[in-house]
Amino acid sequence: MPPYDATPAPQGAPRYRAVTRSNVRKTAQWSKLPPEMREAIEVVSQVLPFRTNPYVMDELIDWDEVPNDPLYQLTFVQKGMLSDADYAKMAELVRNDAPKGEIKLVANAIRRRLNPHPAGQMTHNVPKIDGRGLPGLQHKYDQTVLLFPSQGQTCHAYCTFCFRWAQFVGLDDLKFQAQETTDLQDYLRAHHEVSDVLITGGDPMIMKTKALRAYIEPLLAPEFEHVTSIRIGTKSVAYWPQRYLTDPDADDLLRLFEQVVASGKHLAIMGHYNHPRELSTKVAKDAVRRIRSTGANVRMQSPLIRHVNDDANAWAELWKEGVKLGAIPYYMFVERDTGPKAYFQVPLVRAWGIFRDAYQQVSGLARTVRGPSMSAFPGKVLVDGVAEVAGEKVFCLQLLQGRDGDWVRRPFFAKYDENASWLTDLKPAFGEDRFFFEDEPRVSPPRRLDVV
Ligand SMILES: *Cc1c(COP(=O)(O)O)cnc(C)c1O
Ligand code: SF4
Repeated sequence: MPPYDATPAPQGAPRYRAVTRSNVRKTAQWSKLPPEMREAIEVVSQVLPFRTNPYVMDELIDWDEVPNDPLYQLTFVQKGMLSDADYAKMAELVRNDAPKGEIKLVANAIRRRLNPHPAGQMTHNVPKIDGRGLPGLQHKYDQTVLLFPSQGQTCHAYCTFCFRWAQFVGLDDLKFQAQETTDLQDYLRAHHEVSDVLITGGDPMIMKTKALRAYIEPLLAPEFEHVTSIRIGTKSVAYWPQRYLTDPDADDLLRLFEQVVASGKHLAIMGHYNHPRELSTKVAKDAVRRIRSTGANVRMQSPLIRHVNDDANAWAELWKEGVKLGAIPYYMFVERDTGPKAYFQVPLVRAWGIFRDAYQQVSGLARTVRGPSMSAFPGKVLVDGVAEVAGEKVFCLQLLQGRDGDWVRRPFFAKYDENASWLTDLKPAFGEDRFFFEDEPRVSPPRRLDVV
């Protein structure tokens, strides 16, 4: 007997619909917001992406606590995300009902100042076959190829801090997108060192099962035996867990998961959970249970975001709840250097403190988590902590993944800097002129090359 109930979705099951600038005024919560918060939404959403949904609004946000509620901060744009001058300029245009074209012009000018492409993201790591670039793929670390399916480039809600924000406001021409599933297959045929395919987005779970199946099913053929793991990076487990329960093709999706597991591959749903409240609802817990009933694993990862989860207790609670449900804590990331970064940024020393405080509260079963980790140009850089070595206060660092595999797990040191919030803010310790993975001596200011 299948581990799930293969009957049609119950009558009256909630159907997904997006809440955006165009319809947010019609929600029940709108009239309860104070005027300055309504204005902030109208103004900032002209510049930054804004999209949420009734599940997030009705079940996750605590409206008694807005604007400070972490789940409100997660999907609702805030005044502080723009500089005072930019906010004032845009607010005036909105108040005066300025023509759309004029608003767009000003919005794009502001966007370009928000480092929309943490450098090279669109151009580095794009693999090739016979000299032809495969824009829907990225291959940076030996074992793992990323796939960005063209139909999975949006999400059930937008995270205000998302480093892919430029794509959601149409600033990017989406060069990422896979043209065809065959690009991936051709590439994998030629690259037997690849053991993992990571399907990412946007959110691939925005796709209908049928579309997702077209990418995944071919990989189950014997010629792709070297691909032992398939991962799907998704926020749907938090923003729209109904995807696994009552959406019209939810059962079909679970069947696809079972099929992957039956083929002998590892299937991991890499759940993007930012806050324990996302696991507090019955639907969210049931989604994890149902996914796991197929033999797939659920892992949990998230960046550390000021105003959302810069709180050790929240992380400890998230990991504990995850472990209870069988979701495996995986990564805590450092927020990237793009968009409203001044609003969200947490200095590295504080990120380390929060990680440590949270880690100390959980048993070894949750200590599978690694962090805080920066997905930077040379690789995934872990902040191990702060120490004093030979009389100098330093950050102890190491690479968990490296552009060159041989860099991994070599301890290295940077000068202590209480304000540093990204690798590029750090300087080598002990008078060295470069980090070991840098070919050239450091020139100042350091190049900003931050690539996933
Ligand atoms: C994080 C990441 C991966 C996956 O790394 P794991 O440590 O295996 O989870 C793969 N490719 C890129 C570009 C990444 O940033
Ligand atoms: S779900 Fe992921 S891709 Fe989508 S907005 Fe959030 S962080 Fe970005």
